[in-house]
Amino acid sequence: MITLTNISKSYNKEIVLSDVSFSMKPHTTLSVLGKSGCGKTTLLKIMAGLEVADNGKFTFNEENMFALQPQQRQTVYLSQEPLLFPHLSVFENIAFGLKIRKIAPQIINEKTNELIEKLGLSEHKNKIPEMLSGGQKQRVSFGRALIINPKLMLLDEPFGSLDAQTRTEMQNLYKKVATEFKISALFVTHDLKEALIMGDEIGQMDKGYFKIYNNKNEFYTNAQSGVKEEIEFWKKLIE
Ligand code: ADP
Repeated sequence: MITLTNISKSYNKEIVLSDVSFSMKPHTTLSVLGKSGCGKTTLLKIMAGLEVADNGKFTFNEENMFALQPQQRQTVYLSQEPLLFPHLSVFENIAFGLKIRKIAPQIINEKTNELIEKLGLSEHKNKIPEMLSGGQKQRVSFGRALIINPKLMLLDEPFGSLDAQTRTEMQNLYKKVATEFKISALFVTHDLKEALIMGDEIGQMDKGYFKIYNNKNEFYTNAQSGVKEEIEFWKKLIE
């Protein structure tokens, strides 16, 4: 299990996370909803080791993750803006994680080409990032993360800057890849539909407090989720 226990974090006097506790099963995706500024990024950064919690425990199959350096945690943090090396091709960007691990060139070639194909990037493998669309860049960014087989992916509104159609394509691709690669992930989004599509479970952050809905019905009926409000909005349009 992936377990967080009583994680707290303040910046100066501002309490950003208050005793955040939850568990999730490996190989599942937990959607994390919440308004801007409620602490979602801070939680992900603490898990990745990019920020340090004031208190609390984080274990992965009982291993204490806080005792590990960020680079030892086998977690990947991905944000809205894909971070790619601008001077390297799609192939080189994706292969990078294997190259620095001194994997044999033949294996790098095989693994990278296989992943490029799965991500639908075969036609673009020799392009550099500036020649790619937003969706393609985000696919490369996923490829860079997946190639090193991370234990946990921390996805911070990864599709936030994409147009609606590309976003739907990326959601479908993510679902396919998540099953195939047995990905464990936290997926931050403020889009209710996306949270429902992407998450095996759905959690909500509100002013530093975090709760996981017991099931989709609770997500639907709980006033805090905002689902009913959204449905009312659409109903009013046709009344
Ligand atoms: P979210 O991802 O939900 O939008 P964040 O985790 O980015 O929220 O931020 C939560 C709160 O913590 C915000 O009020 C933000 O201003 C504050 N915060 C985040 N990082 C820092 C920092 N490095 N120093 C001071 N305050 C910060």
